[in-house]
Amino acid sequence: SIKSRELVTEKELLTKLQNLSNQASEIKSINKDINEIQQVRKSLESEIKKNRNELNKLLPKITSLKDQFQDKNTLLKNLINSVDDTLSSLPNLLNPIAPLNGTPEVVHWINKPDIEPQADPERAHIEIMKKKNMIDLQSASNTTGTSSYYLLNEGAQLELALINYAVDTARRHGFEFIIPPSLARLEVIDACGFRPRDMNGEKQIYAIEGQDTGLVATAEITLAALGFNNIMNLKDTGVKKVVGLSRCYRAEAGARGRDTKGLYRVHEFSKVELFCWSKPELSDDVLQSLKDFQIELFTNLGLCAKVINMPSNDLGNPAYNKYDIEAWMPGRGSFGEISSTSNCTDYQSRRLNTRWKNESGNLNFVHTINGTAMAVPRVIVALIENNYNKESNKIKIPLALVPYMGSKEYI
Ligand code: AMP
Repeated sequence: SIKSRELVTEKELLTKLQNLSNQASEIKSINKDINEIQQVRKSLESEIKKNRNELNKLLPKITSLKDQFQDKNTLLKNLINSVDDTLSSLPNLLNPIAPLNGTPEVVHWINKPDIEPQADPERAHIEIMKKKNMIDLQSASNTTGTSSYYLLNEGAQLELALINYAVDTARRHGFEFIIPPSLARLEVIDACGFRPRDMNGEKQIYAIEGQDTGLVATAEITLAALGFNNIMNLKDTGVKKVVGLSRCYRAEAGARGRDTKGLYRVHEFSKVELFCWSKPELSDDVLQSLKDFQIELFTNLGLCAKVINMPSNDLGNPAYNKYDIEAWMPGRGSFGEISSTSNCTDYQSRRLNTRWKNESGNLNFVHTINGTAMAVPRVIVALIENNYNKESNKIKIPLALVPYMGSKEYI
């Protein structure tokens, strides 16, 4: 099932497996050499102990054995690193329910419209937000550069409202609220399946120069890290559920094109993230429950969206299967991804060494499942582009959000 992913073609996979097998034999043979070198060295040393007169004759041999030992050890270390690299580049297995390298499968509609939704460039969120003094892109460009923004007035208020709405809903669903750090060690970032560089060598995350840390692309990383070398208490339900709020930093080096303006694709944004650890046999159900949670959240915001069972070539390395939700954005004239939820089975827990004690007292790897609750900028795009009334020049606030906007019904 690994080979059906675009990330690893069959040829690439076979080459990797062949390399691994060769390296495994090399490791075996070097270990054998190292053992032999050590044995010879020990026997020479004991000869010297027995007869000190042998010292001058045997010392050069011992020195040469020491050098050989060092060389073999360096070789061994490099080989082990290379094996680790190859192993960590392999993707998770594939859930048979994921469409094979095919068309994404729409499994559910949220607020499906009766007629095909129509593009309307006059509803572009940037223009509406500028007109209503909710965004300042020019200053952001001066301060930071491209793909950056200042949210102003009701724009900033909308961000807080969406965050609080998502966190409150998650807490009502039994998720424990956490604000994690925005920096993580590269080792942890890597173990979660995020790479400083992607397959094309393009920058994915911002690493901090001179340190072994990087800015997180999502709270998924720092929440997953709570299980680093840890034994999770999955309690009676077999699941531990947390909701985290963080800033997310994305280099987005490879993402070009029409998304360079506005809020759709930015370098830094706020996101509320759901994260669960579960008994292996429960992870499929947990994924469905995160998907249902997302459906509830976006249904109540009145968005028109579709839930998609993502095909194998679109899963990324860690996911066993994944559902995305795409909302209609009339100003962009297309559906745009607003959330994602993945079952990573034991891909992350093996790398992070996150385990749980099963009923018979044995330690097993847990499964991890993550999902977006609120990726703020894209939901702002969808809300504003759908809820703007050109005649009145007002943006309608969805009922579920009104209490979080100081009872304001319109902007
Ligand atoms: P991901 O963690 O990549 O699955 O992303 C989770 C959600 O964050 C996506 O569904 C998007 O809604 C949002 N998102 C991802 N990248 C960006 C970005 N560069 N700018 C704004 N929103 C983003």
